[in-house]
Amino acid sequence: MAEAYKIIDHLYDVVVVGAGGSGLRATMGAAETGLKTACVTKVFPTRSHTVAAQGGIAASLGNMGPDHWTWHMYDTVKGSDWLGDQDAIEYLCREAPAAVYELEHAGVPFSRTAEGRIYQRAFGGMMQNMGEGPPAQRTCAAADRTGHAMLHALYQQSLKYDADFFIEYFAIDLIMEGGECRGLIALCMEDGTIHRFRSKAVVLATGGYGRAYFSATSAHTCTGDGNAMVLRAGLPLQDMEFVQFHPTGIYGAGVLITEGARGEGGYLTNSEGERFMERYAPSAKDLASRDVVSRSMAMEIREGRGVGKEKDHIFLHLDHIDAKILAERLPGITETGKVFAGVDLTRQPLPVVPTVHYNMGGIPTNYHGEVVTLKDGNPDSVVPGLFAVGEAACVSVHGANRLGSNSLIDLVVFGRATGHRLGELVKPGDKQPALPKGSEEMALGRLDFFRNAKGASPTAEIRLQMQRTMQADCGVFRTEASLADGRARIDAVYGRMRDIAVTDRSLIWNTDLIETLELDNLIGQAVVTMHGAANRKESRGAHMHEDYPNRDDKNWMKHTIAWFDQGKVRIDYRPVHDYTLTDDIAYIKPKARIY
Ligand SMILES: Cc1cc2nc3c(=O)[nH]c(=O)nc-3n(C[C@H](O)[C@H](O)[C@H](O)COP(=O)(O)OP(=O)(O)OC[C@H]3O[C@@H](n4cnc5c(N)ncnc54)[C@H](O)[C@@H]3O)c2cc1C
Repeated sequence: MAEAYKIIDHLYDVVVVGAGGSGLRATMGAAETGLKTACVTKVFPTRSHTVAAQGGIAASLGNMGPDHWTWHMYDTVKGSDWLGDQDAIEYLCREAPAAVYELEHAGVPFSRTAEGRIYQRAFGGMMQNMGEGPPAQRTCAAADRTGHAMLHALYQQSLKYDADFFIEYFAIDLIMEGGECRGLIALCMEDGTIHRFRSKAVVLATGGYGRAYFSATSAHTCTGDGNAMVLRAGLPLQDMEFVQFHPTGIYGAGVLITEGARGEGGYLTNSEGERFMERYAPSAKDLASRDVVSRSMAMEIREGRGVGKEKDHIFLHLDHIDAKILAERLPGITETGKVFAGVDLTRQPLPVVPTVHYNMGGIPTNYHGEVVTLKDGNPDSVVPGLFAVGEAACVSVHGANRLGSNSLIDLVVFGRATGHRLGELVKPGDKQPALPKGSEEMALGRLDFFRNAKGASPTAEIRLQMQRTMQADCGVFRTEASLADGRARIDAVYGRMRDIAVTDRSLIWNTDLIETLELDNLIGQAVVTMHGAANRKESRGAHMHEDYPNRDDKNWMKHTIAWFDQGKVRIDYRPVHDYTLTDDIAYIKPKARIY
């Protein structure tokens, strides 16, 4: 080591990394069972990306019409294009109503119906009667600021528990010993001290990695740090080729316009003023699932019917909706439209384009939040001491394509399940053996390398090259040629990491260094995503491979798992769980996916 770093040691039963919706819910759950719990977060809790969620949270409350958890389950399985694990999906949809009532009691100010019940809106792919229709109003909303309301309520609640918060601490790497997770190394960004956490369990709740792409709706902090720690621990990530493009990011800015806008009656038009979704999805139209709508928009643009000077985007109309309703149900996006597109959406259409929004792939887990891997022929082998929840995890309930409003519910249902599991597995104050010698070496070696990096390639330059490569070659449409080219290009970007240049050598609020560590996290995930996409010779959900335009259940109804070692990707598979949790619902058999 080039320099001795000051290390401060901590002993906890449980350490949660992340204070978004999933991290806070897991922290509360663990603390509630009496476990000594730490929550480590690189941003202040209420600045986590969950705060930006707009449209709402799915649960079959049936406040606005008939609904049932089995209908929600059917839609989620269909939305996943049969890549979701049905035991986990059953768990999600059954537990969803209780999780929403729990949020209500925690103080989330949901919008209300005239009778005072939680208001629910229509969202893409959510139907009644096992997919037969009509659309189900299933998405519970607090105007168009549901994530904001949720995150603030959860943070306030979490303060009532006896958990310690380490705020603006950047987690660098896991401490692993003999295939078991023993703790974590983090950097306090304010004073440069290194913190070594020894714990019986680490929960990764670090969110998605949207920032591997050039145009994304996610915050700049969404760099998938936990996913990258898992790769460096020699464990695989799952289904990384499935990246969701949201149909309506504001053209040029990337800022999201919630699907709730179409849920309230908004619709898309091309340069001929045509409501083209009627051609692609005759029944669900503008409320087909996101992969379908994004692809249809890309087709219109490609065939020359895009709007604007470059004919490279689409219009979203809300101008036919009563201005009073817009002000009440969509106040946030009314403002967003003004600020980011210069449009008064009560009178003009909004310019929109498909924009990277969500990562279906991530750290493979079971429905208890326990991380699993393929070991000695067992595809569900649990990694002791390691858990993952939220967008970082791949349970997998979203399979190849997530339905809108199914992420917020995933955060709280599986955050809570993880708390329960920790309560079963760990006893407060359980004895912990000493950490292995040199437990800090991997983390500090990386930190030290980047802090003193004197190469010729600035972080921002390599990052831009990575983001442009992912956007161009691993986008809404993919081909053999684009993926082969993309693989070579992204591998070359990875190669440049050894030549990186960092100019600030301090340890106090060194954003140059933090951004570099984040880029190092992103690049591994970008490589794995590109290789996974090139490997999957079919089209399913968000992975549209034009040379293999059909879903191929015989050969490809399986999860990709990918390891990453010094630039090399190794791929294997885990079977999709083709069974449910109970006899209350039978396995939902694959069908063609038509909306
Ligand atoms: C604009 C937008 C709108 C959305 N709207 C909806 C919606 O209406 N409905 C819906 O269901 N879904 C929506 N989604 C998706 C959903 O909001 C996210 O998937 C979800 O909020 C992710 O929550 P999370 O708990 O996994 O992580 P996040 O909320 O992203 O939080 C990640 C946490 O990890 C911490 N962290 C990360 N790395 C480190 C590190 N190295 N060290 C320490 N801490 C770290 C961060 O500090 C943060 O606290 C939306 C997403 C976006 C981007």
